[in-house]
Amino acid sequence: MYAGIDVGGTSVKVGFVDEKGKLTGIKRAATGRITVEALADTVAGILEKSPSPVSGIGLVTAGRVNPATGIVDAGNLGWWQVPLRSVMERRLGMPVHIDNDVQGALYAEWKTGICKDAENVVYISLGTGIGGAFILNGRFYRGRGHDGAEIGHMITHADGEPCACGGRGCFERYGSAAALSRMAGGVNTRVVFSRAAEGDAAMAGILKRYTHELCIGIASVSVIFRPDMIVLGGGLSNAGNALLDPIAQELSTASPTIPRGKPPVVRLARHGNEAGVIGAALMAMDGV
Ligand SMILES: [Zn+2]
Repeated sequence: MYAGIDVGGTSVKVGFVDEKGKLTGIKRAATGRITVEALADTVAGILEKSPSPVSGIGLVTAGRVNPATGIVDAGNLGWWQVPLRSVMERRLGMPVHIDNDVQGALYAEWKTGICKDAENVVYISLGTGIGGAFILNGRFYRGRGHDGAEIGHMITHADGEPCACGGRGCFERYGSAAALSRMAGGVNTRVVFSRAAEGDAAMAGILKRYTHELCIGIASVSVIFRPDMIVLGGGLSNAGNALLDPIAQELSTASPTIPRGKPPVVRLARHGNEAGVIGAALMAMDGV
């Protein structure tokens, strides 16, 4: 049995994954902003009640994670340069693989999900921001200092809206779930999709504009990497075909968004909210 830990802004999830990569159970604990020491205590408490012995532990979290050094910066948790891995390993008494949560989600899809064994994959996580992860030539691509794959801060609008990163015109200002909600005057994204489906012309128009913004980013990464597949994950991917079908239509060869070549293969992630814990456990299992 392997344990996969997914640290979020408000809670931590600990999933138990068997040798075949199947999730057999999951436990959650509310955390909020928490110190790494308190997080280690919470996780230790859950693992002590594990149904069977744990032979490896993986942990994923949002933020800048360096899997080589185990150092993490996670603004939403108030962590700056925290030695997460060494604190966890000391408290849990065994090696812990740590990684970024989007890398974890991609790893889950690549091992047991929608892009199983593909050579080249771009994963785009659509949430409050936009996260990214790449498998290139069958391996993770992380960039210098493990800072690569920041698809959300790719510039899709020259000199556009200011972004939290300090830049302007970043993809996540236009293509994230938060951007869709903003376009719709603050309406929850689920409501945008349901109203559009019910025939609300204004919401349908907003969705069309949003799809176009998303396709600009998708088309850009597609022409750079020519991946076998682009996988859409994150909370917004729960919208399913209501999200995917208009994207496929806009990216079709008749669309002006992509000037030439075959449209990219775009698919929805399969593992949903459990992608992080599954990916974390699989990384620990495979010694990634
Ligand atoms: Zn930015």
